[in-house]
Amino acid sequence: MSQTKSTAQRRRRTVDRRFREAKLLLRGAANTDHPIMAHIIPIRRCNLSCAYCNEYNDYSKPVPVATLRDRIELLGKLRTGVITLSGGEPLLHPELDEVIRIIRRNATLAGLITNGYLLTAERIQRLNDAGLDYLQISIDNVMPDDVSKKSLKVLDKKLQILAEHAHFHVNINSVLGGGIRNPEDALVVGRRAMKLGFTSTVGIIHDGDGQLRPLANREREVFLEMKKFEKRHFSRINYFQNQIANGQPSDWKCRAGSRYLYICEDGLVHYCSQQRGFPAKPLETYTVQDIRREYVTQKGCAPFCTISCVHQISYFDFWRGEQTLTVEPVPQEQLVHIKAATM
Ligand code: SF4
Ligand code: SF4
Repeated sequence: MSQTKSTAQRRRRTVDRRFREAKLLLRGAANTDHPIMAHIIPIRRCNLSCAYCNEYNDYSKPVPVATLRDRIELLGKLRTGVITLSGGEPLLHPELDEVIRIIRRNATLAGLITNGYLLTAERIQRLNDAGLDYLQISIDNVMPDDVSKKSLKVLDKKLQILAEHAHFHVNINSVLGGGIRNPEDALVVGRRAMKLGFTSTVGIIHDGDGQLRPLANREREVFLEMKKFEKRHFSRINYFQNQIANGQPSDWKCRAGSRYLYICEDGLVHYCSQQRGFPAKPLETYTVQDIRREYVTQKGCAPFCTISCVHQISYFDFWRGEQTLTVEPVPQEQLVHIKAATM
């Protein structure tokens, strides 16, 4: 494909995506009875084994596409705005393109969170053709180590082919905390992302309950430095992190179970990846009454929560909807556990 044709296609896709984003924002502001975002797990298996991660195993089979279709249609009936595929590593699912097409038929926007290892030019073109809107890769360090192999050294080639071929929005997330050795790596990753034309975010690694592990001084400095070169994008709504970076509790209303849903590989609705087990209700029985109840339920784990996607979604309603019910966080040992990988 010629460069000019590809650039024109990319522009058309961006205009079309912005139009749908505007629609999602208006609908989200006008009515609180629907989820703005759902994460859905098409496969729990991962091809990596990051030391801080409790969201993968090394043996699960892909969820059949017919089952995923049913779940996505149910999310569509709940009028979910963005459906994002997460994992495990979603690119290990053999029919992921079809799953993305199903999302585009049932929701406003389709997203994908991947470690990027399996991306090729041909795979990116298939994601373009399927109608993917967003892709996020987390890069944890510059050189791979025993905590994480999601390093810039390994993934830079993948970033270059993404810059060349992707017609969807690409965000590169770098991380601080959680045993990542060199906080400065986050700056290197963020600068590289911006040079390639992507957006760049920084996340703070949470413990197994989604809670803050206090940042060291240098990590906090790097975090504040990275905030200076933020670009405008939906994923940039992360004001909460200022308090969290300073070890202060964050005063916000978590709308997990309402405006944000986490659908595990068994089709249960959970608050988020780190509060699996609550409410743990099958998606096919999840109704607008559940959405309304969770909207007004204050989560005991909120003050030190670092789950940025739920913070971003909850920002839609920060000024309204007082939370009058309460629920305590589920302790780590009571979460729906993902069996540890054997490697
Ligand atoms: S953080 Fe991502 S890439 Fe690493 S083990 Fe977990 S799911 Fe896999
Ligand atoms: S505050 Fe919300 S997003 Fe954060 S861990 Fe608790 S339920 Fe999950």
